[in-house]
Amino acid sequence: MIDKLVIANRGEVALRILRACRELGIRVVALHSEADRDTKYVRLADESVCIGPAPPSDSYLNIPAVIAAAEVTDASAIHPGYGFLSENADFAERVEESGFVFVGPSSDTMRIMGDKISAIKAMKASDVPCVPGSDGPLPDDADGVVDMASSIGYPVIIKASAGGGGKGMRVVHTEAALINAWQLTRSEAQAAFGNGEVYMERFLEKPRHIEFQIIADNYGNVVHLGNRDCSMQRRHQKVLEEAPAPDVKPALSELIGERCAEVCRQINYRGLGTFEFLYENGDFFFIEMNTRLQVEHPVTEAITGIDLVKEQIAIAAGDTLTYSQDQVEFRGHAVECRINAEDPNSFIPSPGEITQYHQPGGPGIRVDSHIFNHYVVPPYYDSLIAKVIAHGSNRREAFSRMYGAMQEMVVEGISTNIALHQKIVSDSALHQGPRDIHYLERSHTN
Ligand code: ADP
Repeated sequence: MIDKLVIANRGEVALRILRACRELGIRVVALHSEADRDTKYVRLADESVCIGPAPPSDSYLNIPAVIAAAEVTDASAIHPGYGFLSENADFAERVEESGFVFVGPSSDTMRIMGDKISAIKAMKASDVPCVPGSDGPLPDDADGVVDMASSIGYPVIIKASAGGGGKGMRVVHTEAALINAWQLTRSEAQAAFGNGEVYMERFLEKPRHIEFQIIADNYGNVVHLGNRDCSMQRRHQKVLEEAPAPDVKPALSELIGERCAEVCRQINYRGLGTFEFLYENGDFFFIEMNTRLQVEHPVTEAITGIDLVKEQIAIAAGDTLTYSQDQVEFRGHAVECRINAEDPNSFIPSPGEITQYHQPGGPGIRVDSHIFNHYVVPPYYDSLIAKVIAHGSNRREAFSRMYGAMQEMVVEGISTNIALHQKIVSDSALHQGPRDIHYLERSHTN
């Protein structure tokens, strides 16, 4: 049903989607900005269309330009990747209305789960545990906000209902700081997401971030593909992820995974989805759902042997899931390092020409990257330039393979966080067991 697919994204994920399409025998149209003309995936694509100047608002976020490109190339489907338009329900609706297949859930379910407040409501309806909080938007009056915070108990976190990518949230430790933080988060949310609605949750002091991957077809078949631990974060951004999450009782993991699958059945969810939780003292608390492919999907692919992007496209084309929950097997352990073009100390993005690139390899190593020797990292986009994934028969082997890969990998001409990853993967405390979400900032960054 899908013979030609438009990739409405860039960078490593564009290449990842292109590779899946090749295996499926689907022709690819790569959309690109003026800054991304000379990229590997644009050259490899069957067709390409320049959709505008470098700034994302003029190209990758320009909905009419994306739809027009699909029309002129006579494509049948649009894959949004992650970031950009991937969680924009209005975009999904426009794609549907224009007669294309949107590789993702329906715009209706995206609206429910993309809004954090309504997602929490849907989760509670299926008995999924959530973080104690305001259970809805904060009141408009300062007194109401103060009362809410004292009933939840400090510290609290104020979060934008439409937030994402680590943006639109603020931790508040004292009543004195509350009103200012509330007003700031509200206006930032309005400016960044066009929606100033904010809510409040208890700020958990030392949780881990554990998420569950689900996959659902159009016919009510839903399975979960286990969990991932994404606790290694800096400024709410994931840096290293692993699967499965260490030291979680299998029965509990199974229970939460099944509850997430049940939510999908209740709301007729289709495609890939990730349910994110905080995990503290043996309890899971839902925080949000991502209705798209995740950056860290390869660790799940490594331990399940399932190609999530191929599955995602097949499901969008109307295929039925070919396996049931009891056929999903988890093998070994996988770790992913996100390699960013950024200054190792200031973390400021470091665009420019890559003068030397050596990709790591060896048993169990996978590299998802669009870069090459003399590739110029443009200054306009996310600083992710590569993902390195190590798979081993157990956690120790996965980490030691990753350690080797981080020693081997060379990216010169720009600054990267490879040295930070070398430190993280050789961290003896992390080797002993999982760490909380603040560990990385406490131990490895200033
Ligand atoms: P985003 O959509 O921007 O990714 P999330 O709601 O997923 O936002 O939160 C991102 C990160 O922020 C989490 O992984 C966690 O590190 C932190 N965080 C969010 N909510 C809480 C909370 N209630 N308590 C402690 N940390 C939180």
